[in-house]
Amino acid sequence: MKKHNYSAGPCILPQEVFEKSAQAILNFNDSGLSLLEISHRSKDFVAVMEEARALVLELLDLKGKGYQAIFLGGGASLEFLMIPYNMMKVNGKAAYLDTGTWASAAIKEAKFLGETVVVASSKDQNYNNIPKGYTIPADADYFHCTSNNTIFGTQMKEFPETDLPIVCDMSSDIFSRKLDFSKFDIIYAGAQKNMGPAGATLIVIKEEILGKTGREIPSMLDYAKHIKAESMYNTPPVFSVYASLLTLKWLKNLGGIEAIEKINDAKAALLYTEIDRNPLFRGTAAVEDRSNMNVTFLLNDEAHTAKFDELWKAAGISGLPGHRSVGGYRASMYNALPLESVQVLVDVMKALETEIK
Ligand SMILES: *Cc1c(COP(=O)(O)O)cnc(C)c1O
Repeated sequence: MKKHNYSAGPCILPQEVFEKSAQAILNFNDSGLSLLEISHRSKDFVAVMEEARALVLELLDLKGKGYQAIFLGGGASLEFLMIPYNMMKVNGKAAYLDTGTWASAAIKEAKFLGETVVVASSKDQNYNNIPKGYTIPADADYFHCTSNNTIFGTQMKEFPETDLPIVCDMSSDIFSRKLDFSKFDIIYAGAQKNMGPAGATLIVIKEEILGKTGREIPSMLDYAKHIKAESMYNTPPVFSVYASLLTLKWLKNLGGIEAIEKINDAKAALLYTEIDRNPLFRGTAAVEDRSNMNVTFLLNDEAHTAKFDELWKAAGISGLPGHRSVGGYRASMYNALPLESVQVLVDVMKALETEIK
Protein backbone atom coordinates (compact mmCIF):
# COMPACT_ATOMS: atom_id res chain seq x y z
CA MET A 1 0.00 0.00 0.00
CA LYS A 2 1.28 3.49 -0.88
CA LYS A 3 1.67 5.41 2.39
CA HIS A 4 0.52 8.86 3.35
CA ASN A 5 4.00 10.19 3.98
CA TYR A 6 4.29 13.04 6.49
CA SER A 7 8.07 12.77 6.87
CA ALA A 8 9.82 16.06 7.64
CA GLY A 9 12.75 15.33 5.34
CA PRO A 10 13.83 13.56 3.28
CA CYS A 11 10.22 13.60 2.32
CA ILE A 12 7.53 12.79 -0.18
CA LEU A 13 8.12 13.75 -3.81
CA PRO A 14 5.69 13.48 -6.72
CA GLN A 15 5.23 9.84 -7.76
CA GLU A 16 6.18 10.72 -11.36
CA VAL A 17 9.54 12.01 -10.08
CA PHE A 18 10.26 8.65 -8.44
CA GLU A 19 9.30 6.83 -11.61
CA LYS A 20 11.16 9.02 -14.09
CA SER A 21 14.31 9.26 -11.98
CA ALA A 22 14.31 5.48 -11.50
CA GLN A 23 14.07 5.13 -15.27
CA ALA A 24 17.00 7.55 -15.77
CA ILE A 25 19.15 5.38 -13.52
CA LEU A 26 18.49 2.46 -15.85
CA ASN A 27 18.63 4.25 -19.19
CA PHE A 28 19.12 7.99 -19.35
CA ASN A 29 17.58 9.75 -22.37
CA ASP A 30 17.61 6.47 -24.33
CA SER A 31 21.40 6.61 -24.36
CA GLY A 32 21.84 3.04 -23.17
CA LEU A 33 23.71 4.50 -20.19
CA SER A 34 22.67 5.25 -16.64
CA LEU A 35 22.46 8.83 -15.39
CA LEU A 36 24.87 7.59 -12.73
CA GLU A 37 27.62 6.47 -15.11
CA ILE A 38 27.96 9.39 -17.50
CA SER A 39 30.24 12.40 -17.22
CA HIS A 40 28.72 15.43 -15.56
CA ARG A 41 30.36 17.33 -18.43
CA SER A 42 28.52 15.31 -21.07
CA LYS A 43 26.09 17.19 -23.29
CA ASP A 44 23.10 15.40 -21.75
CA PHE A 45 23.95 16.25 -18.17
CA VAL A 46 25.05 19.82 -18.89
CA ALA A 47 21.59 20.29 -20.40
CA VAL A 48 20.01 19.02 -17.17
CA MET A 49 22.00 21.46 -15.06
CA GLU A 50 21.23 24.38 -17.36
CA GLU A 51 17.54 23.63 -17.44
CA ALA A 52 17.33 23.18 -13.67
CA ARG A 53 19.13 26.47 -13.01
CA ALA A 54 16.93 28.34 -15.47
CA LEU A 55 13.71 26.79 -14.20
CA VAL A 56 14.50 27.77 -10.61
CA LEU A 57 14.78 31.42 -11.64
CA GLU A 58 11.66 31.19 -13.79
CA LEU A 59 9.53 29.68 -11.02
CA LEU A 60 10.77 32.24 -8.48
CA ASP A 61 10.11 35.05 -10.99
CA LEU A 62 13.77 36.09 -10.84
CA LYS A 63 14.62 35.70 -14.52
CA GLY A 64 16.54 38.66 -15.91
CA LYS A 65 16.86 40.27 -12.49
CA GLY A 66 20.56 39.68 -11.87
CA TYR A 67 20.23 36.38 -10.02
CA GLN A 68 22.09 33.10 -10.44
CA ALA A 69 20.97 29.69 -9.25
CA ILE A 70 23.53 27.02 -8.38
CA PHE A 71 23.36 23.51 -6.96
CA LEU A 72 26.09 22.51 -4.50
CA GLY A 73 26.75 19.62 -2.15
CA GLY A 74 27.05 19.84 1.62
CA GLY A 75 23.42 20.44 2.51
CA ALA A 76 21.89 23.63 3.87
CA SER A 77 24.22 23.15 6.83
CA LEU A 78 27.29 23.98 4.74
CA GLU A 79 25.58 27.22 3.67
CA PHE A 80 25.56 28.23 7.33
CA LEU A 81 29.33 28.67 6.89
CA MET A 82 29.43 29.73 3.23
CA ILE A 83 27.07 32.64 3.88
CA PRO A 84 29.36 34.47 6.32
CA TYR A 85 32.43 33.61 4.21
CA ASN A 86 30.85 35.32 1.21
CA MET A 87 28.92 38.07 2.99
CA MET A 88 30.69 39.13 6.19
CA LYS A 89 33.38 41.77 5.77
CA VAL A 90 36.72 41.41 7.50
CA ASN A 91 36.05 42.98 10.93
CA GLY A 92 32.41 43.27 9.90
CA LYS A 93 29.32 41.89 11.57
CA ALA A 94 26.21 39.94 10.75
CA ALA A 95 22.64 40.14 12.09
CA TYR A 96 20.63 36.95 12.66
CA LEU A 97 17.07 36.22 13.72
CA ASP A 98 16.95 33.17 15.98
CA THR A 99 13.73 31.28 15.31
CA GLY A 100 14.76 27.69 15.93
CA THR A 101 17.31 24.91 15.84
CA TRP A 102 18.40 25.61 12.26
CA ALA A 103 18.61 29.35 12.77
CA SER A 104 20.79 28.84 15.82
CA ALA A 105 22.97 26.37 13.92
CA ALA A 106 23.49 29.11 11.30
CA ILE A 107 24.39 31.60 14.05
CA LYS A 108 26.96 29.19 15.48
CA GLU A 109 28.80 28.98 12.14
CA ALA A 110 28.70 32.76 11.53
CA LYS A 111 30.48 33.24 14.86
CA PHE A 112 33.51 31.44 13.44
CA LEU A 113 34.06 34.39 11.11
CA GLY A 114 33.10 37.45 13.09
CA GLU A 115 30.71 39.39 15.27
CA THR A 116 27.25 37.92 15.06
CA VAL A 117 24.36 39.89 16.52
CA VAL A 118 21.19 37.99 17.38
CA VAL A 119 18.49 40.63 16.80
CA ALA A 120 15.79 38.58 18.55
CA SER A 121 15.13 35.04 19.73
CA SER A 122 12.09 33.03 20.76
CA LYS A 123 14.24 30.36 22.40
CA ASP A 124 12.76 31.08 25.85
CA GLN A 125 9.32 30.07 24.51
CA ASN A 126 10.77 26.92 22.94
CA TYR A 127 10.59 28.73 19.60
CA ASN A 128 6.79 28.56 19.43
CA ASN A 129 6.60 31.97 17.72
CA ILE A 130 8.47 34.31 15.37
CA PRO A 131 9.84 37.36 17.22
CA LYS A 132 8.55 40.69 15.92
CA GLY A 133 9.39 44.35 16.42
CA TYR A 134 13.16 43.88 16.61
CA THR A 135 15.77 46.29 15.29
CA ILE A 136 18.45 45.30 12.83
CA PRO A 137 21.76 47.13 13.31
CA ALA A 138 22.24 49.37 10.27
CA ASP A 139 25.97 48.68 10.18
CA ALA A 140 25.62 44.91 9.80
CA ASP A 141 26.79 43.36 6.53
CA TYR A 142 23.62 41.31 6.09
CA PHE A 143 20.51 40.03 7.84
CA HIS A 144 19.85 36.29 8.02
CA CYS A 145 16.52 34.63 8.73
CA THR A 146 14.83 31.23 8.37
CA SER A 147 11.52 31.43 6.51
CA ASN A 148 10.09 28.20 7.89
CA ASN A 149 11.09 26.46 11.10
CA THR A 150 10.79 22.81 10.22
CA ILE A 151 11.10 21.53 13.78
CA PHE A 152 8.87 24.02 15.62
CA GLY A 153 6.16 24.51 12.99
CA THR A 154 6.43 28.28 12.62
CA GLN A 155 6.71 30.29 9.42
CA MET A 156 7.58 33.90 8.73
CA LYS A 157 4.57 35.57 7.12
CA GLU A 158 6.37 38.87 6.79
CA PHE A 159 9.98 39.83 6.32
CA PRO A 160 11.58 42.96 7.75
CA GLU A 161 12.09 46.07 5.67
CA THR A 162 15.82 46.73 5.71
CA ASP A 163 18.45 48.22 3.46
CA LEU A 164 20.80 45.37 4.31
CA PRO A 165 21.11 42.34 2.07
CA ILE A 166 18.64 39.69 3.23
CA VAL A 167 19.80 36.08 3.34
CA CYS A 168 17.14 33.47 3.91
CA ASP A 169 17.21 29.75 4.67
CA MET A 170 14.11 28.53 2.82
CA SER A 171 14.96 24.83 3.09
CA SER A 172 11.51 23.75 4.17
CA ASP A 173 9.19 26.10 2.30
CA ILE A 174 10.87 27.08 -0.96
CA PHE A 175 8.49 26.79 -3.95
CA SER A 176 5.53 26.44 -1.56
CA ARG A 177 4.17 29.99 -1.53
CA LYS A 178 4.33 33.20 -3.49
CA LEU A 179 6.76 35.78 -2.11
CA ASP A 180 8.53 38.71 -3.69
CA PHE A 181 11.74 36.74 -4.02
CA SER A 182 13.55 39.79 -5.42
CA LYS A 183 13.57 41.19 -1.87
CA PHE A 184 16.11 38.52 -0.95
CA ASP A 185 19.79 38.65 -1.89
CA ILE A 186 20.56 35.03 -1.12
CA ILE A 187 18.03 32.22 -0.81
CA TYR A 188 19.21 28.72 -0.01
CA ALA A 189 17.54 25.38 0.53
CA GLY A 190 18.57 21.78 0.97
CA ALA A 191 16.80 19.85 -1.78
CA GLN A 192 15.33 17.15 0.44
CA LYS A 193 12.46 19.12 1.98
CA ASN A 194 10.46 20.36 -0.95
CA MET A 195 12.40 19.84 -4.14
CA GLY A 196 14.24 16.57 -4.52
CA PRO A 197 16.40 13.87 -2.95
CA ALA A 198 19.09 14.73 -0.41
CA GLY A 199 22.48 15.62 -1.86
CA ALA A 200 21.98 18.97 -3.55
CA THR A 201 21.53 22.39 -2.04
CA LEU A 202 20.01 25.15 -4.10
CA ILE A 203 21.49 28.62 -3.69
CA VAL A 204 19.96 31.60 -5.45
CA ILE A 205 22.21 34.65 -5.39
CA LYS A 206 21.89 38.23 -6.52
CA GLU A 207 25.21 38.40 -8.27
CA GLU A 208 26.05 42.02 -7.53
CA ILE A 209 26.29 41.46 -3.78
CA LEU A 210 29.30 39.16 -4.06
CA GLY A 211 32.94 40.20 -3.85
CA LYS A 212 32.57 42.90 -1.21
CA THR A 213 34.05 41.32 1.90
CA GLY A 214 37.79 41.83 1.41
CA ARG A 215 38.13 38.27 2.58
CA GLU A 216 40.00 35.42 0.92
CA ILE A 217 37.55 32.63 0.34
CA PRO A 218 38.63 28.98 -0.03
CA SER A 219 37.62 27.84 -3.52
CA MET A 220 34.91 25.37 -2.59
CA LEU A 221 33.25 27.96 -0.31
CA ASP A 222 33.31 30.74 -2.90
CA TYR A 223 29.94 31.39 -4.53
CA ALA A 224 31.55 33.44 -7.30
CA LYS A 225 33.71 30.46 -8.32
CA HIS A 226 30.70 28.15 -8.43
CA ILE A 227 28.72 30.66 -10.49
CA LYS A 228 31.58 31.18 -12.92
CA ALA A 229 31.85 27.40 -13.36
CA GLU A 230 28.10 27.23 -14.04
CA SER A 231 27.60 25.06 -10.98
CA MET A 232 30.20 22.54 -12.23
CA TYR A 233 33.27 23.65 -10.27
CA ASN A 234 33.51 20.08 -9.07
CA THR A 235 31.29 17.07 -9.72
CA PRO A 236 27.78 18.16 -8.76
CA PRO A 237 25.31 15.82 -7.03
CA VAL A 238 23.98 14.65 -10.38
CA PHE A 239 21.12 12.44 -9.23
CA SER A 240 19.74 15.00 -6.81
CA VAL A 241 19.95 17.75 -9.44
CA TYR A 242 18.20 15.58 -12.02
CA ALA A 243 15.37 14.55 -9.70
CA SER A 244 15.03 18.17 -8.54
CA LEU A 245 14.63 19.20 -12.18
CA LEU A 246 11.83 16.66 -12.54
CA THR A 247 10.08 18.09 -9.46
CA LEU A 248 10.46 21.63 -10.79
CA LYS A 249 8.94 20.55 -14.12
CA TRP A 250 6.08 18.88 -12.25
CA LEU A 251 5.51 22.13 -10.39
CA LYS A 252 5.57 24.19 -13.57
CA ASN A 253 3.04 21.88 -15.24
CA LEU A 254 0.79 22.24 -12.23
CA GLY A 255 0.74 26.02 -12.69
CA GLY A 256 3.79 27.05 -10.68
CA ILE A 257 4.02 28.45 -7.19
CA GLU A 258 0.68 30.26 -7.39
CA ALA A 259 -1.14 26.98 -8.05
CA ILE A 260 0.69 24.96 -5.41
CA GLU A 261 0.16 27.70 -2.84
CA LYS A 262 -3.62 27.33 -3.20
CA ILE A 263 -3.33 23.59 -2.58
CA ASN A 264 -0.97 24.13 0.36
CA ASP A 265 -3.37 26.68 1.87
CA ALA A 266 -6.24 24.21 1.54
CA LYS A 267 -4.22 21.42 3.21
CA ALA A 268 -3.18 23.68 6.09
CA ALA A 269 -6.72 25.01 6.59
CA LEU A 270 -8.11 21.47 6.70
CA LEU A 271 -5.68 20.26 9.37
CA TYR A 272 -5.55 23.38 11.55
CA THR A 273 -9.34 23.58 11.56
CA GLU A 274 -9.47 20.05 12.94
CA ILE A 275 -6.72 20.70 15.52
CA ASP A 276 -8.68 23.74 16.76
CA ARG A 277 -12.05 21.98 16.69
CA ASN A 278 -11.12 18.60 18.14
CA PRO A 279 -11.02 18.79 21.97
CA LEU A 280 -8.39 16.02 22.10
CA PHE A 281 -5.68 18.07 20.35
CA ARG A 282 -3.89 21.39 20.51
CA GLY A 283 -1.37 23.09 18.25
CA THR A 284 2.04 24.12 19.62
CA ALA A 285 2.83 27.17 17.47
CA ALA A 286 1.45 30.69 17.98
CA VAL A 287 -1.60 30.89 15.72
CA GLU A 288 -0.39 33.88 13.67
CA ASP A 289 2.95 32.16 12.97
CA ARG A 290 1.67 28.70 12.11
CA SER A 291 3.53 26.96 9.31
CA ASN A 292 1.69 25.69 6.26
CA MET A 293 4.45 23.13 5.76
CA ASN A 294 5.10 21.56 9.18
CA VAL A 295 2.09 21.35 11.48
CA THR A 296 3.08 20.61 15.09
CA PHE A 297 0.42 19.42 17.54
CA LEU A 298 -0.05 17.52 20.79
CA LEU A 299 -2.63 15.28 22.38
CA ASN A 300 -4.12 17.09 25.38
CA ASP A 301 -4.10 13.82 27.29
CA GLU A 302 -1.05 11.65 26.66
CA ALA A 303 -3.02 8.63 27.83
CA HIS A 304 -4.54 8.56 24.32
CA THR A 305 -1.16 8.20 22.64
CA ALA A 306 -1.22 4.45 22.09
CA LYS A 307 -4.74 4.52 20.62
CA PHE A 308 -4.00 7.46 18.32
CA ASP A 309 -0.73 5.90 17.14
CA GLU A 310 -2.54 2.65 16.39
CA LEU A 311 -5.22 4.47 14.38
CA TRP A 312 -2.94 6.56 12.16
CA LYS A 313 -0.60 3.66 11.51
CA ALA A 314 -3.57 1.49 10.49
CA ALA A 315 -4.68 4.25 8.09
CA GLY A 316 -1.35 3.99 6.22
CA ILE A 317 0.11 7.20 7.64
CA SER A 318 3.89 7.37 8.05
CA GLY A 319 6.33 9.87 9.53
CA LEU A 320 3.97 11.60 11.97
CA PRO A 321 5.88 11.62 15.31
CA GLY A 322 7.14 15.06 16.31
CA HIS A 323 10.75 16.10 16.67
CA ARG A 324 12.12 15.27 20.13
CA SER A 325 12.44 18.97 21.01
CA VAL A 326 8.69 19.54 20.65
CA GLY A 327 7.23 16.06 21.19
CA GLY A 328 3.75 15.07 20.08
CA TYR A 329 3.18 15.05 16.34
CA ARG A 330 4.39 16.86 13.26
CA ALA A 331 2.55 16.62 9.99
CA SER A 332 4.93 17.79 7.25
CA MET A 333 2.81 18.74 4.28
CA TYR A 334 5.28 19.53 1.53
CA ASN A 335 4.21 20.29 -2.04
CA ALA A 336 3.89 16.67 -3.14
CA LEU A 337 1.61 15.58 -0.27
CA PRO A 338 -1.92 15.44 -1.70
CA LEU A 339 -4.96 16.95 -0.02
CA GLU A 340 -6.43 13.43 0.22
CA SER A 341 -3.63 12.42 2.60
CA VAL A 342 -4.54 15.30 4.89
CA GLN A 343 -8.17 14.20 4.81
CA VAL A 344 -7.08 10.72 5.95
CA LEU A 345 -5.27 12.24 8.95
CA VAL A 346 -8.23 14.46 9.82
CA ASP A 347 -10.55 11.43 9.62
CA VAL A 348 -8.26 9.54 12.02
CA MET A 349 -8.37 12.45 14.49
CA LYS A 350 -12.16 12.42 14.32
CA ALA A 351 -12.19 8.64 14.74
CA LEU A 352 -10.15 8.95 17.94
CA GLU A 353 -12.69 11.39 19.30
CA THR A 354 -15.53 8.95 18.54
CA GLU A 355 -13.67 6.03 20.15
CA ILE A 356 -13.00 7.92 23.35
CA LYS A 357 -16.53 9.28 23.87
C1 LIG B 1 16.63 20.46 7.28
C2 LIG B 1 16.99 21.87 7.41
C3 LIG B 1 18.33 22.30 7.39
C4 LIG B 1 19.49 21.34 7.28
O1 LIG B 1 19.57 20.83 6.02
P1 LIG B 1 20.75 19.83 5.58
O2 LIG B 1 20.56 19.80 4.11
O3 LIG B 1 20.49 18.53 6.27
O4 LIG B 1 22.04 20.42 5.99
C5 LIG B 1 18.58 23.65 7.46
N1 LIG B 1 17.59 24.55 7.58
C6 LIG B 1 16.30 24.18 7.62
C7 LIG B 1 15.23 25.21 7.76
C8 LIG B 1 15.96 22.83 7.54
O5 LIG B 1 14.67 22.46 7.58
